[in-house]
Amino acid sequence: MTDLIIKNARLTNRAGLVDISIKDSHIEGIDAANSDTTNNPVTNSDDRLYENTVYDAKGNFVCAGFYESHIHLDKACILDRCTVEEGNLKEAVEETGKAKEEFTEEDVFERASRVLEMAIKKGTVGLRTFVETDAKTQLRSFNAIKKAREKYAFAIDIEICAFAQDGLTNEPKTQELLQQALAQGADLVGGCPYKDDNPNQHIEMIFDLAEQFNVNVDFHLDFDLDPDNSSIPKLVEETIKRNYQGRVSIGHVTKLSAMDKMQRGAMVGLLKFADISLTVLPATDIYLNGRDYDALIPRGMVNANELAEMGINTTIASNNILNAFTPYGDASLIRMANMYANIAQLSKDTEIADVFDMVSKNAAKLLSHQTAITVGAPATLVVLEAKDAVSAIRTAAQALAGFKNGKQTFCNQAAHICFE
Ligand SMILES: [Zn+2]
Repeated sequence: MTDLIIKNARLTNRAGLVDISIKDSHIEGIDAANSDTTNNPVTNSDDRLYENTVYDAKGNFVCAGFYESHIHLDKACILDRCTVEEGNLKEAVEETGKAKEEFTEEDVFERASRVLEMAIKKGTVGLRTFVETDAKTQLRSFNAIKKAREKYAFAIDIEICAFAQDGLTNEPKTQELLQQALAQGADLVGGCPYKDDNPNQHIEMIFDLAEQFNVNVDFHLDFDLDPDNSSIPKLVEETIKRNYQGRVSIGHVTKLSAMDKMQRGAMVGLLKFADISLTVLPATDIYLNGRDYDALIPRGMVNANELAEMGINTTIASNNILNAFTPYGDASLIRMANMYANIAQLSKDTEIADVFDMVSKNAAKLLSHQTAITVGAPATLVVLEAKDAVSAIRTAAQALAGFKNGKQTFCNQAAHICFE
């Protein structure tokens, strides 16, 4: 017997409404909707029975959920511990550096849990979090995030990236701590060459760790508006040398937005050659950049659509929630995608459909997840208050319900007007 039916759902690439039946945590069937419920024994007057076995999507769009490819759960929700005066990267790193010395395991677990619950209720089903692993935090943040990963595994898959935020060649203890984290369950390793005294050596050391543990790598890269001195050539050189094509991703890369089209094209050609994915972090990029200007302020956000057209796997992510890097946030990827599309001056349906992929399919690829809604696939599904992916992005649609491996993980009530 079927465990659950999500009826009257609208899917991408399928005309009309469908009923999705779920059994043993997988999709058992997708059939044309049978909205005539009179012969269906489960749709009786018992509301509880009805709700437990049938979810009526009421013609709304059902997708396979959102994937957050770049977030920092460990330093989220610390705005009240930071002094923000300049609003630039230097201040954000310094203020967060001070705050993180005081982080305890309980504190990190509580804040991470808060953000994870926000994300789950916005339809996110998978996420990659960076965790700062250095002399200031030791393994406290890492241990807390591991606990959070376990607690919320029923609703969201979490990848942990052990991360050297404050440099590596200048922070002798960090390498040892990254090794410990990787030995104790971190999924990949992350670096930040622009915060190191020797960016090229930093890149090499991160790759050394990745090879030692056979894990993927993710770099914060080229985070300023100087079109020169990009770390991309060095990164590509190391990726090829170590046969790491398809296993490297980078975030920010705001230098690309400062380059002219020809220079940018050359850099993107290199990224494509090494099969490196790129994550745009709109909320942080537009908040921290351009602080030296008092008119026509540059925002520094890369146009991910342009790069996608050139063959790069691109994603959009939240990065930070309520801290000195990004003093806003609700962990909503649909809001992030909507904001990105607006800043990138997109209008066509095809462009907006690509943006939807950047917070779903493309980001899932980084976490080695599939997002196809097909018979036999895991029943991980999210109902959005929209008719399709494009209108969901345009209207920043609310997520109404989510199911992970066949089990409901959240529900939101659609707002309604109270007519007199
Ligand atoms: Zn980041």
